[in-house]
Amino acid sequence: MRTPLIAGNWKMNGSAALIESFGKTFASAALPANIDVVVIPPFPYLDAARHAFSNTPLQLGAQTLNPHHSGAHTGEVSGSMLKEFGVAYVLVGHSERRQLYRESDEQVFDRLLAALDTGLTPILCVGETLEERDAGRTMDVVLRQVGYIMARLAPEQRLQIVIAYEPVWAIGTGRTATPEQAQEVMAGIRAYQAGFDASLAEQLKLLYGGSMNASNAAELLAQPDIDGGLVGGASLKTDDFYAICQSA
Ligand code: PEP
Repeated sequence: MRTPLIAGNWKMNGSAALIESFGKTFASAALPANIDVVVIPPFPYLDAARHAFSNTPLQLGAQTLNPHHSGAHTGEVSGSMLKEFGVAYVLVGHSERRQLYRESDEQVFDRLLAALDTGLTPILCVGETLEERDAGRTMDVVLRQVGYIMARLAPEQRLQIVIAYEPVWAIGTGRTATPEQAQEVMAGIRAYQAGFDASLAEQLKLLYGGSMNASNAAELLAQPDIDGGLVGGASLKTDDFYAICQSA
């Protein structure tokens, strides 16, 4: 069975106080057995988080990485640096990076490969815009994003990634995909993977992201192809994020 994974993407938010609050709450947390919970704060908080979370089940993630291992790339951070600070997961292809920083599929792939090379688990984010959904192109767009990556990976690498389906129109808007809408796309992603390998499709972990909160999480997470959530806004409130983890 696939272990549920709940990941909180703080984006460019958070504070030392929030790290401390997570550390305290999750130190005495009664989480469901066999669940992975990941907190993804901005880079400067990683070291403090590593210490504050040492007595908790929380794992650490990063929001991006540079494809190079080191060198003249001012302002960038490499996978090996993240690894040194206890990071286990890294987001690649988040729609904010694709849209605001013009990251192409090729750049997303390079980052994902660098993550795998350094032993980090990449969480590949994919999703359609509202315009694309309204034009009936959701599945085409999502499978093109997934396919670009999968076609370039070796079979064993395909097993080492997590995919987050995040409809762009649902991110930070308060407008969540219905459980049926999310399930439909995620079943499509899994069926597409079955074209590569049926056992890969069974094992592949799929997260839903887009205005997931403490009220709608249980219903989304109950869908057969939704193995967890990538949570933005609601991961900035300790109690809300804790409640989401409990519904997994
Ligand atoms: C995200 O940033 O990945 C996200 C899903 O954000 P939100 O939950 O705020 O929509």
